[in-house]
Amino acid sequence: MNCWHCDRPAQGVCRFCGRGVCRDHARSLPHIEALYRNDEGVQKALVVGNALYCGICQPKEDPVEIPQLK
Ligand SMILES: [Zn+2]
Ligand SMILES: [Zn+2]
Repeated sequence: MNCWHCDRPAQGVCRFCGRGVCRDHARSLPHIEALYRNDEGVQKALVVGNALYCGICQPKEDPVEIPQLK
């Protein structure tokens, strides 16, 4: 796979959209790995601080609401 920006060999893959990026074009963003509720019913997020980001796609800052899965 090559870099989405410059067509050189990609060094990694965007955590958010899956595009390949080389070292020069890689960016980083916090990435929410999982959302869960603790015993008190408080919403918590498990976040990775430095996830690889391509600089093109537009991850939403806030988690999108999804219907309750039961
Ligand atoms: Zn590149
Ligand atoms: Zn991306």
